[in-house]
Amino acid sequence: MNNPKLTRRQILGAAVLGLPAIPVVVETAFAQAKPAAAALPVLSPTEPAAKALGYVEDAKKVDAKTNPNFKAGQHCGNCLQWADKNRQAPLAKCNLFPGKQVKNPGWCKVWVKAPGT
Ligand code: SF4
Repeated sequence: MNNPKLTRRQILGAAVLGLPAIPVVVETAFAQAKPAAAALPVLSPTEPAAKALGYVEDAKKVDAKTNPNFKAGQHCGNCLQWADKNRQAPLAKCNLFPGKQVKNPGWCKVWVKAPGT
C-alpha cells in the first residue's frame, strides 16, 4: 500500500532540490525591470567628422553642385553603413561614426546602396 504522507526526509529533500531555482526566478524578475540602455547621441552635422564627409540630416537638402554624385532617393536608411536591420528606424548607428546615431533621412558623401534596398 502507498503511504500518502511524505516522510520528513522526502520533504527536506524536495525543499533542497527547489532552492537553486529561487535565485533564477529572482534574477529573471529583476532582469526584466532593468531600464533600457541609454541611446547614443545623435551625430551633429557641425561635428568635424560629419563636416568632412558632408553629412546632412536631410538628404533633400544636399547641395547637388558640391555633391554631383548624389542622386535623389539616397539616404542613410538605404545605405550600406546603416547598422540596423530596421531600415525604417528614425535613428541608427552608422559604421563610419562610432558612438553616434545618424538620422534615417540623412546622407553623406560615402553613401553606398545597401543590398536589397
Ligand atoms: S555612411 Fe551611409 S549611413 Fe552613414 S552617414 Fe553616410 S549615408 Fe548615412
